[in-house]
Amino acid sequence: MALSEFDLIDRFFRHCGASRADVRLGVGDDAALLACPPGEVLAAAVDTLVEGVHFPPGSPAESIGHRALAVNLSDLAAMGARPAWALLALTLPSADATWLSAFTAGFAALAEAHAVTLVGGDTTHGPLTVTVTILGHVAATDALRRSGAAPGDALFVSGTPGDAAAGLALEQGRLQGVEGAQQLRDRFLFPTPRVALGERLRAYASGCIDVSDGLVADALKLARASGCGVEIAATALPLSGPLRTLGLKRARDFALTGGDDYELCFTVPLERVARLQAELPCEQWGYTRIGTVSAESGVRVRDEEGALTVSSEGYDHFVSG
Ligand code: ADP
Ligand code: MG
Repeated sequence: MALSEFDLIDRFFRHCGASRADVRLGVGDDAALLACPPGEVLAAAVDTLVEGVHFPPGSPAESIGHRALAVNLSDLAAMGARPAWALLALTLPSADATWLSAFTAGFAALAEAHAVTLVGGDTTHGPLTVTVTILGHVAATDALRRSGAAPGDALFVSGTPGDAAAGLALEQGRLQGVEGAQQLRDRFLFPTPRVALGERLRAYASGCIDVSDGLVADALKLARASGCGVEIAATALPLSGPLRTLGLKRARDFALTGGDDYELCFTVPLERVARLQAELPCEQWGYTRIGTVSAESGVRVRDEEGALTVSSEGYDHFVSG
């Protein structure tokens, strides 16, 4: 059933996500009015998902709603900021109530889990494109940045990188016969933004970035912003059970170069590592030490033979093996 634009907004977007006292005016006027906590600065990020570019055509609507918010929450997590408000610019080929119900269910469940509320947006007609702007806040002096890493710092990653890329390959039929395939698909369809970890890391991390383009590519961005390089021990990479069924070499390739994980890659000065591990136990918080920040620029990956794979270009030019 086709809906008018007003009905569509009223039905699906007027009340979406958590309710928050700091929203002085939400959906319905020309702009939202929001109260930022005193002494904190706004953290703002925007990301667009285009059908056929960022997700396969015909992806489940619930996953599209979840991912559109998750990729933005992940950006705030990487800054150590607390998310609060979201805006949604939605371009739809048709106003299909069934699709919109599933889309908003995916968006709203994640929004509620992070106490985020939808405060405005835009709805237009055209090829399926979802743009979410996320707003949050953080004490200015506490925010995590890409630029704070120094040679000698320990390098960590959360979760099990590579799973989402393998999941996408499964979704697209480029990969078959994997045990635990659904677990990998779910890592692509429903990534977990590490918001609580990001907030806690403000007390320990010197640098932080979220992994969207691949571990090597994003570690390189962090390293460049900090004026240094990183060394990754391939043997230390946390590989999930299902990813391991692909064999060690392919599993490592996915972990090093696969995108869409939305995990955090962060650095911690050596003198703070013991405190990090005591106060945020890695079994509970799900992160792993994978290497060290180096004075030499670029990313070096060392395997058990000690062989080095060097990348100074990131994902596009990364040659493995
Ligand atoms: P305007 O023409 O002033 O931009 P619209 O008629 O486009 O306003 O939107 C009416 C209200 O609905 C505004 O408050 C806008 O923020 C909100 N809105 C429109 N589309 C969405 C959406 N997809 N999600 C959330 N809010 C939306
Ligand atoms: Mg207006």
